[in-house]
Amino acid sequence: MEIKRVGVVGAGQMGNGIAHVFALAGYEVLVTDINQDALNRGRATIEQNLERQVSREAITAEARDEALRRIGTTLALTDLGATDLVIEAATEREQVKQAIFDDLVPHLTPDTILTSNTSSISITRLAARTDRPEKFMGFHFMNPVPVMQLVELIRGIATDKPTFEACLGVVERLGKTASTSEDFPAFIVNRILMPMINEAIYTLYEGVGSVRSIDTSLRLGANHPMGPLELADFIGLDTCLAIMNVLHDGLADTKYRPCPLLTKYVEAGWLGRKTKRGFYDYTGEEPVPTR
Ligand code: NAD
Repeated sequence: MEIKRVGVVGAGQMGNGIAHVFALAGYEVLVTDINQDALNRGRATIEQNLERQVSREAITAEARDEALRRIGTTLALTDLGATDLVIEAATEREQVKQAIFDDLVPHLTPDTILTSNTSSISITRLAARTDRPEKFMGFHFMNPVPVMQLVELIRGIATDKPTFEACLGVVERLGKTASTSEDFPAFIVNRILMPMINEAIYTLYEGVGSVRSIDTSLRLGANHPMGPLELADFIGLDTCLAIMNVLHDGLADTKYRPCPLLTKYVEAGWLGRKTKRGFYDYTGEEPVPTR
């Protein structure tokens, strides 16, 4: 299976990063979203991030221009039917993802591989609704995509070997490193990372420490490059909550219950960096703790 054309569903922080790395690696990329603003913002972010790579001499100006030429955008999901590989990177809600695959499947070529960048939702369950569970996988990039080296490849129960190998070949061509996870809630990275973030939020909720003391403790005491609350803001608190709910529902263990304070932030629309407020306020020059 030779993969040349790649479709990306969702132009948010992950979708634009995915389009960026595929275009730089020479793939033709078509990105779709439900609103034109998201597509415009996504493209502007890709341009800025490519420009930064040029100024650091990580890539040439020609590579930037070629990458930008390879990225197309469309509001019509069905235009992605002609691609060889689809990576769904829309909002982390199962109903949203199911509706996308339901709408897309009738327009696909028989060989198109379908993948989801979901952080936690069952690949097997998403695959089972499509006409090609054997050609369906989890393709889980880390944020920010152009910077992070890992891609988690998740095999659903029905995923066949050629599909897995084709995706592994893509990860190699992107110059990234794959890890393989079986399809259980939140896979490997988030199974371990999210309970730690949730515990940091409980530590704040119970008054054990302030936002600053919790982040400083983990940065300087455990040598983490970012504190858990800054990291939560970076990932998006809605995504963090969605992943905790998947762990809680999927593994039926109370140790995964989302902290009520995380739920409250999400209810307030304080989703982290993307809304300029989460555990920190990002409207000024320096982030300021909100508690
Ligand atoms: P985001 O909120 O930045 O972007 C989601 C985008 O999906 C938005 O632009 C939205 O308009 C679009 N969208 C919603 N419904 C759609 C539809 N029906 N069709 C097309 N587009 C639609 O979210 P994100 O952080 O980019 O996350 C996207 C996916 O990537 C989620 O599944 C998330 O779990 C996963 N992920 C996120 C991270 C992270 O750190 N944020 C890391 C790895 C994986």
